[in-house]
Amino acid sequence: MTRVSEETGGNQPTSARTPQWGTVMRVVVIGAGLGGYEAALVAAQLGAEVTVVDRDGPGGSAVLTDCVPSKTLIATAEAITDFRESGELGIRIGEAMPEVGGIRADLGKLNERVKGLVRAQSADIAQKLSREGIRLVPGVGRLDGPDRVVATTADGAEEVLPADVVLVATGAQPRVLPDARPDGERILTWEQVYDLRELPERLVVVGSGVTGAEFASAYHALGSDVVLVSSRDRVLPSEDADAATVIEDVFTRRGMTVLGRSRAAGVERRGDGVVVTLTDGRVVEGSHCLLAVGSVPNTEGLGLEEAGVRLDKSGFVEVDRVSRTTARGVYAAGDCTGVLMLASVAAMQGRIAMWHSLGDAVAPLDLHTVSATVFTDPEIATVGWSQTEIDEGGANAVTVKLPLAGNARAKMQGVRDGFVKVFCRPGTGIVVGGVVVAPRASELIHPLALAVTHRLTVDQLANAFTVYPSLSGSLAEAARRLHRRGASPDAPRTV
Ligand SMILES: Cc1cc2nc3c(=O)[nH]c(=O)nc-3n(C[C@H](O)[C@H](O)[C@H](O)COP(=O)(O)OP(=O)(O)OC[C@H]3O[C@@H](n4cnc5c(N)ncnc54)[C@H](O)[C@@H]3O)c2cc1C
Repeated sequence: MTRVSEETGGNQPTSARTPQWGTVMRVVVIGAGLGGYEAALVAAQLGAEVTVVDRDGPGGSAVLTDCVPSKTLIATAEAITDFRESGELGIRIGEAMPEVGGIRADLGKLNERVKGLVRAQSADIAQKLSREGIRLVPGVGRLDGPDRVVATTADGAEEVLPADVVLVATGAQPRVLPDARPDGERILTWEQVYDLRELPERLVVVGSGVTGAEFASAYHALGSDVVLVSSRDRVLPSEDADAATVIEDVFTRRGMTVLGRSRAAGVERRGDGVVVTLTDGRVVEGSHCLLAVGSVPNTEGLGLEEAGVRLDKSGFVEVDRVSRTTARGVYAAGDCTGVLMLASVAAMQGRIAMWHSLGDAVAPLDLHTVSATVFTDPEIATVGWSQTEIDEGGANAVTVKLPLAGNARAKMQGVRDGFVKVFCRPGTGIVVGGVVVAPRASELIHPLALAVTHRLTVDQLANAFTVYPSLSGSLAEAARRLHRRGASPDAPRTV
């Protein structure tokens, strides 16, 4: 995933086309996703004249098809799981609903809620752009050389937009397999699931990366029978191995079928269902199939290479750590760069591009400070160096892992699955990373993110008060356990 090229920027001037005193810089952004609109806001704040050309609507995939809708769906899935597992906490559901396991989502209503939230969020962004004096041109943009963008609107009209700085933030789209063509009804990409009115009886999810695992977790909680087809030994192959093991155990314990080492060769529609054929000849039948096999960048037909912008062999735009491409004055941010496909990273790359091109203070992107979450149930949140990097010798660190089973609050809440891990430098005890597997781990990772970003030591982390009882108490406890180990370069590397 990491595709930050030092070389790209090495030949570039310190900023874009050096601003002349008294001239207003013209910035044209292609794409109004997180990468594009956050950049536009920074550019406007720095006094540039900003135009954003966008094809699908403010907010881009993050708002219209990816993060916002999926996390809204997951919010309902979480509520159902809490309800379903509430018996242990002494809750009786009553005569009307004797079988708690029988709860199912009203998918039609849920999807209406999703679409309403998406529309509202996109409208909020449109308003914000307009309030800051940013011009939004609905249409398709392409480069005509490095200093001109041509926007084509729905009625076919063309507008030429001269630019001192161009930001390409066109995102990515779901990858489809040659023998698994989505039909929007039974064979679906993650962008198409929100048109479903009825819950799939049996959903086959192809792909067990972050997107596949999140949807498998959510639909299983909503009431679908789920089969997760994973081409690797375990689900979430790129995540912390201990965390992925917890998730796979929870999936199977709750009744999901996980098919490991099973690669889908094709998916076809048969009557009212689908048939997924695996490369070893086995077939898996279902009512619906969700394809979650990665993304491809939206970089075709944009005039990039003609403008001097180098693409890698997969079509991603090559950028350096301040978002410069190989063409002077042309920057790129977000999924179209493939650096790290997260909304937060897209936004930061976009902001960095503007700070750099418009001559403001800027620190290059540091991927080792990024916190990220897999929104399965429980969630996996990570920041900094990974266990794999440490195990493979890429980072010198001491590690500790504490299961949540020993945490008082976890016991009260009936939380059995999960753990916290903290990694620190031997000798200095500086925190370099961590993993949290827990309900709402996305909210618990922030103290570790602060520690990693500001190079706090395990002692500083441990000495800040935590509430008793709280899950965050386990973070302080883990840091406390590293006190001596962190201080001694010769101590054992795992506590
Ligand atoms: C299911 C799913 C869930 C996710 N959940 C999360 C999450 O919870 N947290 C997180 O951090 N990340 C999440 N991500 C990743 C996140 O969605 C992306 O990293 C983020 O959307 C990237 O933003 P972007 O600005 O690069 O591109 P996009 O958001 O894709 O925006 C690109 C914009 O460019 C427009 N465009 C494309 N080509 C042209 C053109 N030629 N002319 C004009 N406009 C054009 C598109 O219409 C779009 O509006 C998720 C991804 C998926 C698939």
